[in-house]
Amino acid sequence: MSLNDLTNVPADINTGVRNAKQQTMLTLLGNPRSSYDSDCQPVTHTTLKKLIVLEDVGPFRITGLKPAIDDLRAIFIRVKMNNPQLHAALGTAGMLCCRLVRGSQTSISNHSWGTAIDIKINDQLDRRGDGKVLQGLVDLAPFFNKQGWFWGADFGTEDSMHFEVGDDRIREFHKAGLFGHAVVAPEFALSIGDRGPEVRHLQERLNFLGAEMKVDGIFGSATHADVGAFQAEKGLIPDGIVGPKTAEALGL
Ligand SMILES: [Zn+2]
Repeated sequence: MSLNDLTNVPADINTGVRNAKQQTMLTLLGNPRSSYDSDCQPVTHTTLKKLIVLEDVGPFRITGLKPAIDDLRAIFIRVKMNNPQLHAALGTAGMLCCRLVRGSQTSISNHSWGTAIDIKINDQLDRRGDGKVLQGLVDLAPFFNKQGWFWGADFGTEDSMHFEVGDDRIREFHKAGLFGHAVVAPEFALSIGDRGPEVRHLQERLNFLGAEMKVDGIFGSATHADVGAFQAEKGLIPDGIVGPKTAEALGL
């Protein structure tokens, strides 16, 4: 099979890796800018700006968050040692870009913090949302997962070119003092703007408990409202955020 052949998304991906949640990103790194739309705009947050670098990561030079850039270099060294042919095929469609997730009004893309990268295989980008992936990306994903990065093939809308620093890895960076400022890490929470397999699981659970919502893995205003209603019913603060108490009450 060639690196540019299309194949199905493998069943076992992102084992033990959670995509980074909006609450985690916003608390630990701050909001990259005050407003977003669908186009790339620059970072305006001053502390975050200082963490953005342009560096050589092996197959190419790229601009992103310093600790994420260091991770990429480590990932690509391993790819080169284990699969030189794949390494030679790697290219990118970019990393840092402050914008909303495509098709969303509420989700800030993790590209906004420079912690996500879109990968090309022999100059080819995988088509988003067709449920098929380039073989080269399938071969590449375990190297990213091993470093604590999440593969976008698992998003509600399949996004296989996309890899991003996972929630636990972001917390590790923060714990190691790499963000250079003292904030307390938030408890793990799902909130408006999040997407991915955990949101899908939450929606299935809400439906099991009587809600009737579309299971699309996107935490939008409908999911937010349903979580709030559930919390009110259980005597919890109806903030629409699934923190530990709400998760427990939901049986997640
Ligand atoms: Zn992306």
